Amino acid sequence: MSESREPAARRAQPTVLKFGGTSVADAAACERVAALVRQAQLSAPPVVVVSALAGATDALLAAADTAARGDPGGRAGSLDALLDRHAEIARRLCLPEATAALLAEFARARRELAELLEAAARAPKRRPALRDEIASYGERLSAALLTAVLVRAGVPARCVDARRCVVTDDTQGRATPLVTATEERTRAELLPLLEGGFVPVLGGYIAATRAGVTTTLGRGGSDYTAALLGAALEAREIEIWTDVSGVLTADPRLVRHARTIPSLSYAEAAELAYFGAKVLHPNTIQPALERGIPVRIRNSHAPEDPGTQVTAHGEVRPGAVKAIAHKTGVTVLQISSARMLGAYGFLRALFEAFERHQTVVDVVTTSEVSVSLTVDDPRALPDITAELRGLGTVAVEPGRAIVCVVGEGLRTTPGIAARVFATVSDINVALISQGASRVNLTFVVDEAQVADVVRRLHEALFERDPAGRRVAFPAKEGAR
Ligand code: ADP
Ligand code: ASP
Ligand code: MG
Repeated sequence: MSESREPAARRAQPTVLKFGGTSVADAAACERVAALVRQAQLSAPPVVVVSALAGATDALLAAADTAARGDPGGRAGSLDALLDRHAEIARRLCLPEATAALLAEFARARRELAELLEAAARAPKRRPALRDEIASYGERLSAALLTAVLVRAGVPARCVDARRCVVTDDTQGRATPLVTATEERTRAELLPLLEGGFVPVLGGYIAATRAGVTTTLGRGGSDYTAALLGAALEAREIEIWTDVSGVLTADPRLVRHARTIPSLSYAEAAELAYFGAKVLHPNTIQPALERGIPVRIRNSHAPEDPGTQVTAHGEVRPGAVKAIAHKTGVTVLQISSARMLGAYGFLRALFEAFERHQTVVDVVTTSEVSVSLTVDDPRALPDITAELRGLGTVAVEPGRAIVCVVGEGLRTTPGIAARVFATVSDINVALISQGASRVNLTFVVDEAQVADVVRRLHEALFERDPAGRRVAFPAKEGAR
């Protein structure tokens, strides 16, 4: 099929299309993506962001961790299988010349990965940087592969190394983008391609420091890449294509009757993402919000479904609750001290300990003599608690989970909190926080109980009317 390039003069605002790992899991999925990009071309110039093939990042990180334990070849079999999956897609969907070039690239990647794994086994200090470098192969290879698939399908695709566009600080594993530098580089790299009528294809999740060291944006970070590029290019829309038909009323892996939410405000979507709705990386909404760019979450396996639209205008749903998110692996810290009473400077001293150890605090509640808070990254907790003991007694409770009920108008709708807590009245609830944000009600429960809590809340808030009668469900639900 021949390439159909759009004349530069007709270049309009682009749309960023991001495809997650399951959207490019195999040849059939890649073919669906090619059809979607061809279709998207008809309404706006696309910029494609792609994740690693489903399971690739897990396999690469497992190989890095096995190497760090002194066994660089321990995961050779799974890496070979991963590269074979790439090769199989190339053979089935790409032109012969492109296939040959890709197979050579996969073989080179395999050799480079072996060297990087050897280095990770030998040099403990370099491990965080090597881990990101090793992980980056997932998106580098998927972007090269998808580009060739798109070219074969008649799309004038050009592969761009995302590390040339997304500039970050040097926090390996969860780097923070430097927004101005990222915008400048993204425009410099992508606008000439768009003006030439090409479709840029970039791997998500991967980035680089100013000095060119590879970094990553944290697990699930391809959504964030799409939002950063969308903001830099002032895109008309950022489309997140995944394996469910939008943001659902709860995690469909827990709640069978979870269904698609047609529209969310930026604030609602950000809270859901932050408090565990895996369908969006927590930082995705911010760049879109700053530029007022709509974000749409859609199902690449069911493109006819409208999905979820996220904009500045969230409508208030009768009953106010739109969704329930949850996040496991949370630790609660309770710091108690009579010195808090009537003293100033106590809270500052407390939070400075978290700042010094670069640990994010998610939920905070205070009483006269104690502060309770949650963290989900426990790595620095031994050091933090040692410092906090200078302020008062510290209790550390691991194995907790945050439950977050979200909806515009939640704070102003009477009776919601009563309904929520009546539903879980037999469960020990800690750390209740309402009103920190106008759209959420957040609390903490034991991790072992969270699935039950989410299911019960979903049933009470979405599957029954206020009189407690079961409501009928639409025939088609969001989860597939
Ligand atoms: P991708 O690889 O496309 O980025 P992810 O696995 O990162 O996909 O995110 C999609 C998954 O998020 C869904 O398959 C679903 O299991 C999970 N998920 C958790 N909470 C929600 C929610 N509220 N709405 C939709 N999906 C959710
Ligand atoms: N491939 C990366 C991950 O699995 C990034 C992403 O999928 O968004 O975390
Ligand atoms: Mg994801």
